[in-house]
Amino acid sequence: MINRHVLIVDDDSNVRVPMQEFLEHSGFMVSAAETAEKAMDLIVHDGVHVVITDIQLPGMNGLDFTDAIKAARADIDVIVITGFSTDYSYEEAVEKGASDFIFKPVRFRELLLRLKRVLKEKDLSEERDRMLSELKNLAITDALTNLYNSRQFYNQLELEMGRSVRYHHPLSLMLFDIDHFKEYNDTYGHLEGDKVLVRIGQTVKSLLRTMDTAYRYGGEEFTVILPETIGEEAVTVGERIRSYIASEKFIQNGKIISVSVSVGIAQFDYCEETPEFVKRADQAMYLSKDKGRNQVSYILQPVMVEQDKTLKT
Ligand code: GH3
Ligand code: MG
Ligand code: MG
Repeated sequence: MINRHVLIVDDDSNVRVPMQEFLEHSGFMVSAAETAEKAMDLIVHDGVHVVITDIQLPGMNGLDFTDAIKAARADIDVIVITGFSTDYSYEEAVEKGASDFIFKPVRFRELLLRLKRVLKEKDLSEERDRMLSELKNLAITDALTNLYNSRQFYNQLELEMGRSVRYHHPLSLMLFDIDHFKEYNDTYGHLEGDKVLVRIGQTVKSLLRTMDTAYRYGGEEFTVILPETIGEEAVTVGERIRSYIASEKFIQNGKIISVSVSVGIAQFDYCEETPEFVKRADQAMYLSKDKGRNQVSYILQPVMVEQDKTLKT
């Protein structure tokens, strides 16, 4: 609470100066301004948390000023001070977004109590926002690999498909699956298998371009959404991911072990639905499996599997 920055706005120095001294003495960082205009400058450029403003300011009333503060920075709390208890109601001030209201002559101890209450609410609301955003992140993240999960994959894929249709921009999808992973688990144990999944997650993340997003689609299957990308370009990205994963080294019983992935690529066809698009990437991935694994396949057309192009490595 103490490192909160309070801004006092009052043209009357008989109020402003002692109030600033009192609040500074109470441990706050305090700024002061005589006009709304000067105050706005501080609000926009300095990290102000709470504004205490007189209702009557030169050229602007405190309620319109509250409006302006809230429009510029909705997170700033405003406490309005009034000498005209009959002219403005508490409701009016609260409607404008004021957090509290105090009457003149201001009793500093009362002001301090109100300020502390406003700041306590601010702390609670910030904490709630933090927790909410953390929860949202948890809901879309895979706990093991830290990549996004399949729920987020479908949300994002549909969003990107919509964008692709609207703007006629290309969109590609990559799906890959670890080769012979059951054998790895059976030989070295499930925990060692998990380490492979984690490392693959890290590798993929480090190789992505800024627009691309990676997901743990299922147990040992991953997807990457590549917006603004034609299939051939996605093949290049897939090839990079495939070769980096193949070059990773895992030490087991003193031996260097490597793993590989089979990659499938599909470019979005504007008339297809989500399941068909995903299925095509899946078919391309199975084609890589059929052709010997550790490779990238790209299905050019939705149904004509004959036109597949497989990149041997
Ligand atoms: P293929 O090359 O045909 O993909 O062979 P595979 O052995 O990888 O395929 P299969 O589908 O038979 O086995 C997948 C394995 O992936 C089996 C399962 O134990 C493992 N797996 C799936 N999810 C996890 C996980 O979260 N952790 C670990 N360690 N293993 C997992
Ligand atoms: Mg699989
Ligand atoms: Mg597998």
